[in-house]
Amino acid sequence: MNRRERRRAARSDPGKYRDMIAALTPMLRCPDCNSDIELTDVDGLLTVLVRHDDTCPVYRAMQGER
Ligand SMILES: [Zn+2]
Repeated sequence: MNRRERRRAARSDPGKYRDMIAALTPMLRCPDCNSDIELTDVDGLLTVLVRHDDTCPVYRAMQGER
């Protein structure tokens, strides 16, 4: 299934993918800090946002800090 087919399938049954992603979202927490997870749905586009602690080593590495 290519991207176009996945998007078409998600539009035809948005609840199917939303529920699956919502169930998986807690697993996306950062193991190195007390991160918060936000799942947003804007017109069927699901976005998972991981909010790291400011002191998180993963976050600091992504920012180019030590
Ligand atoms: Zn983190």
